Amino acid sequence: MKKIILTAIAAVMLTASLTACGSTFTCEMCGEEKTGKSYTFQSSATGEDMTICEDCYNLVKDVMNAVN
Ligand SMILES: [Zn+2]
Repeated sequence: MKKIILTAIAAVMLTASLTACGSTFTCEMCGEEKTGKSYTFQSSATGEDMTICEDCYNLVKDVMNAVN
C-alpha cells in the first residue's frame, strides 16, 4: 500500500510546475490557508490540478529523496 502511494507521488512529481503568484491560496494537501509560493501539480492519477504550499512541496521532496 505504501509503495502505491509513493508511486502516485512520483507520478505527480513528474508534472510539477512552479507557480509564484504571491496571493492567498489554500493548500490542498494540508488544508491550510497560505500566502507566498504555491506549487501546482497535475496528478496523473486523477488528471486534476492540485495547489500545495512550499511546506508540503518540501515534504514530498523529502519522500522522493528517501525513495531514491
Ligand atoms: Zn500544505
